[in-house]
Amino acid sequence: MEKRDYYEVLGIEKSASQDEIKSAFRKLAKKYHPDVNKEADAEEKFKEIQEAYAILSDEEKRKQYDQFGHAAFQGGGGAGGFGGFDFSGFDYEDIFDNIFGGFGDFGGRSKGNRASKGNDSLIRMKLSFEEAVYGTKKDIELDIIDQCNECKGKGGFQETTCDKCHGSGTITSEQRTIFGSFLSKTTCNNCGGTGKTYKKKCTKCNGNGRIKVKKTLEVKVPAGVDNGNRLRLSGKGSAGTNGGPNGDLYIEFSVSEHNFYVRDGDDIYLETPITIVEAILGTKKEIPTLYGNVVLTIPEGSESGDKHRIKGKGIHNDSSRRKGDMYIVLKVVTPKKLSKEQKKIIEQLKTTDLIDGEIKKFNQFVKAND
Ligand SMILES: [Zn+2]
Ligand SMILES: [Zn+2]
Repeated sequence: MEKRDYYEVLGIEKSASQDEIKSAFRKLAKKYHPDVNKEADAEEKFKEIQEAYAILSDEEKRKQYDQFGHAAFQGGGGAGGFGGFDFSGFDYEDIFDNIFGGFGDFGGRSKGNRASKGNDSLIRMKLSFEEAVYGTKKDIELDIIDQCNECKGKGGFQETTCDKCHGSGTITSEQRTIFGSFLSKTTCNNCGGTGKTYKKKCTKCNGNGRIKVKKTLEVKVPAGVDNGNRLRLSGKGSAGTNGGPNGDLYIEFSVSEHNFYVRDGDDIYLETPITIVEAILGTKKEIPTLYGNVVLTIPEGSESGDKHRIKGKGIHNDSSRRKGDMYIVLKVVTPKKLSKEQKKIIEQLKTTDLIDGEIKKFNQFVKAND
């Protein structure tokens, strides 16, 4: 088969910058990665893209390619045998970490046999105001990459020594270029560098050793979590590869608002309506707190906006071990509908001197301004 031009493979101009090359590769690799793309020729295409990128991203190799074309890497001397560049040792890791990092999980294709930590996962959890304040236990169902229980994560049964690398996990091959021949050591692609293969492939995980499973997990939500807080459950993320540790699971909370309480950190604000009579004469008022009702003494002469602190009746935060306070903010409600009897009483008040210092001062200002 005729080898396609590397620039054509990546769909870029001959003059493309390294950034353009990288971005073209990322886009295509994402599209054709065999873990994502299940089309029959995806693997072939993916290899082609990898190869083009390996050459063009390397200034030195790119120069050779521009000058000699594919011949630069195909045993230019003629004596064939070596079918192209071997890419299995090429380090794509930084690129793949970027493409497949985050919360997906696409195995460790380029990671050889190194133990690596599983991916972290993030899920969002909705909580009522009360659940967030008092803490709760909740079951969550999540999709997670777990070790295959059928083959215990090995990917197969009846272990044997890899016959391609004879158990060493690496393959030494001769690489011919226009500059001469080189011996290069690469990870064995038959066993993925483990030196072992299995006579029977595990059908449950298709040889991956890891499978996607639905798991139910009981989560203990500590008292006092707030909107946007994250809880980290160590080791509850995806399974690692080659004996690496599991990733972590993060739970981000989204907390509903309360009809009356307003939260500010660990403090709770409650607007409390009182009548004008209660405001004038003072009263004892029953106040609903997060921990049952308490009686608050409201002094005579209270006004809208007056604030009273009830110590320790805010949120008892498990994480900070702090106890917030509660603030009662008074709102004097002026009656809109009065009975004849009530109106009469208020009219009588008019005849008494209700004018205190603040109003006197204002009246003086009105006069002076005239
Ligand atoms: Zn091998
Ligand atoms: Zn399995």
